[in-house]
Amino acid sequence: MKCPFCNAEDTHVIDSRDSEDGHKIRRRRRCHVCDKRFTTYETVELRLPQVVKHDGTRTEFDRNKLLTGFKRALHKRPVPTSYVDAAIDRIVQKLLAMGEREVTSRSIGESVMEELYKLDKVAYIRFASVYKSFQGVDDFRDVIKEVQKPSSPHNSSEKNPESANE
Ligand SMILES: [Zn+2]
Repeated sequence: MKCPFCNAEDTHVIDSRDSEDGHKIRRRRRCHVCDKRFTTYETVELRLPQVVKHDGTRTEFDRNKLLTGFKRALHKRPVPTSYVDAAIDRIVQKLLAMGEREVTSRSIGESVMEELYKLDKVAYIRFASVYKSFQGVDDFRDVIKEVQKPSSPHNSSEKNPESANE
């Protein structure tokens, strides 16, 4: 790191220590040229990516929007709020772990579909019908066939009893 006083290229770390909360490293540095000392802090950068929408515009990731989507799909379905929170947490964690600066709204939609599939099949179909812009009965038939497939890879985590009727 450059010296902030004389702009020399070469500064040395003379001391490193964790901050009290353990989320920062504090380093004391010394400049070889002017012999001045200064402190730098190193932190982990965990930022949610920007969401790239279908029309190419960018927007901040919004957890509330995600929650609204889940609520709409799960309207009057017997799914505890804590399950929904956990599902949203998993999506957020996944986004953070990607470390990307941008993510498409489409890819977030896919994650929502995955979580809804595990939570509630009716909600999954509801969300899919809007998200994939179902045009007619055939689209519904296909997705219902998909959730009824016994060999579905998602079935291992399925805990709710099958109830296709509202
Ligand atoms: Zn210097």
